[in-house]
Amino acid sequence: MSNKKLRYLLLMPVKSAIYHEVFMYKIIKKDGTAKRAEFETVHGKIQTPVFMNVATVAAIKGGVSTEDLEGIGTQVVLSNTYHLHLRPGDETVYRMGGLHKFMSCNKPILTDSGGFQVFSLAKTRRIKEEGVYFHSHIDGHKLFMGPEESMRIQSHLGSTIAMAFDECPSAKAEHEYVQMSVDRTTRWLERCKKEMNRLNSLEYTVNPHQMLFGINQGAIFDDIRIEHAKRIADMDLDGYAVGGLAVGESHEEMYHVLESVVPYLPQEKPTYLMGVGTPANILEAVERGVDFFDCVYPSRNGRHGHLYTNRGHINILNARYELDDSPIEEGCQCPACRRYSKGYIRHLLKANEMLGLRLCVLHNLYFYNHMMEEIREAIEQGNFAQYKKSKLDGMQEFDSADNKEYANIDKNWRKG
Ligand SMILES: [Zn+2]
Repeated sequence: MSNKKLRYLLLMPVKSAIYHEVFMYKIIKKDGTAKRAEFETVHGKIQTPVFMNVATVAAIKGGVSTEDLEGIGTQVVLSNTYHLHLRPGDETVYRMGGLHKFMSCNKPILTDSGGFQVFSLAKTRRIKEEGVYFHSHIDGHKLFMGPEESMRIQSHLGSTIAMAFDECPSAKAEHEYVQMSVDRTTRWLERCKKEMNRLNSLEYTVNPHQMLFGINQGAIFDDIRIEHAKRIADMDLDGYAVGGLAVGESHEEMYHVLESVVPYLPQEKPTYLMGVGTPANILEAVERGVDFFDCVYPSRNGRHGHLYTNRGHINILNARYELDDSPIEEGCQCPACRRYSKGYIRHLLKANEMLGLRLCVLHNLYFYNHMMEEIREAIEQGNFAQYKKSKLDGMQEFDSADNKEYANIDKNWRKG
């Protein structure tokens, strides 16, 4: 980059603080405990419940461009702090004007804190009060990340919403360890909030209106989860996430945790269930008051030819689709179904053509985004329970040979 451009970026004026007045979360309608809301951000309004499309390294795997996202109903993009810190480096993204400019995206972007990846991907980590010492999963070099580092990286990225740095203890961890870990996560959250306030007040911050979501932890222990929820609810954050789920516990345990903990998180703030999940998981969580979601399933499954439809999953590589000239789903308005047949898409995947992956990922993301649109409509009309039942019943139809293979893959991918 030229010195002139760098100078320009560094001298960009901080936007006026009046934006704070328009940031608000407004519940439009409640249907039981399901929430239909609007969330104003500096990068636009989010209609909830919402599914955030996962662009780990500032791109959705499968050759999906920022332009494509506009055609499949994407409202929010989620990017990964840990991965972008390692490559290309958050300093590079900052010098390029922040993540929005870097990937030419004008939608709200949420960045996770990097905590989950440090704990799940990095080698030989040591957790201390100050943060985590670990080795890069790319080249093994030594790194350190604590609450302040995570906030600085996310500030460099300039995302709309930053996530607090936390430890995600294993679903199988002992009560005593989880309690100790959650207490430390609370102290880390206080440090995150302080550091974010400082970063947002600096003159050359990419997004001085960056928001902070706190994360509830506590594995599957109700007492720890509830006590932690009460403590973070008092900290007046911009939103609240339930973390540490979909890491090996059963679906029933996940739903139980939500029933226990969501009532203790502030109603008048967004409620985000991290890393979850299948369409059924999302429907169950919406019913329990959650309104933000993200998951790699639609893109990851799409890349393997596992496709979501209103009648259940299909594996498009199955021989039965070889001569099938119908779309993945009749009536689907995604770029794949509007034009191409199952037989053609199956051929593309078999021939390892990038277009095959792209079409499958676009269909799956459209399916998720469109389902959220249906959920919002159902809540507005006060018939979410009926909608949920008919959607779940419908998705049973293909629960047959096509899905046995899918079920195994689903199990193995839960930790992704
Ligand atoms: Zn489609």
